[in-house]
Amino acid sequence: MRLILLGPPGAGKGTQAERLSKELRIPHISTGDMFREAVASGSPLGLQAKGFMDAGQLVPDDVTVGIVRERLSRSDCRKGFLLDGFPRTVPQAEALEEILADLSESLDAVISIEVPEDVIVRRLSQRRVCGDCGTIYHLETKPPAPNGKCNVCGGDIFQRADDSEETVRKRLEVYRLQTEPLIRYYEKKGLLRRVSGDSDIETVFEETFRVLERV
Ligand code: ADP
Ligand code: ADP
Ligand code: ZN
Repeated sequence: MRLILLGPPGAGKGTQAERLSKELRIPHISTGDMFREAVASGSPLGLQAKGFMDAGQLVPDDVTVGIVRERLSRSDCRKGFLLDGFPRTVPQAEALEEILADLSESLDAVISIEVPEDVIVRRLSQRRVCGDCGTIYHLETKPPAPNGKCNVCGGDIFQRADDSEETVRKRLEVYRLQTEPLIRYYEKKGLLRRVSGDSDIETVFEETFRVLERV
């Protein structure tokens, strides 16, 4: 399956993608993770992306489309993929169509995870991530091990710099202006499937899976 997970920051895209990619045996492609890895390694891409990420703004479309084009061209994507956090603008969505047309492929569905804004702000203030394997935690709903380390790999747990309250507000504004129009964009194409993200992780997963069975 060729899928997109769409939704505001904190909707649970990364959390659901971790599980869906295992169940569906398709690669989880997160542009946010790719940028964070680039920043951590100090590569030229990371140097380009860092300032935008720290400010809660989007990395420019040409840079973002370039890394997605390269990633989707790899052989592990021929059986499908799960895009998380891409596309985030209408030009990115148009570029994705071109990339897929070049590969003679097309999307099967766009899952829109819908969560009210007050829930998002609470979720992001409590989000923590493993610095080694990227597993996503939440201090209340999905806590790391009692010793404060990652349950999966034993790595150290961090709060993302862009999860500070001020940057979260900026990211939500960016989401509303630049990303939310994609809901209508994919609705018009008949690809949009809405899922409520405002219940526990397992329930959201089951609802998403049911939706995908009907695609
Ligand atoms: P979240 O899901 O919490 O919004 P992500 O991990 O998806 O965060 O993205 C973190 C940051 O990486 C974004 O705020 C943005 O700066 C950058 N980024 C990720 N994906 C894209 C994209 N498709 N286009 C532009 N910038 C992106
Ligand atoms: P996104 O990738 O959309 O930005 P994440 O998957 O990183 O979102 O989730 C944001 C935060 O909310 C994380 O701390 C995660 O553990 C938590 N979370 C995700 N889904 C749920 C849920 N259904 N109920 C409660 N907390 C959740
Ligand atoms: Zn880990």
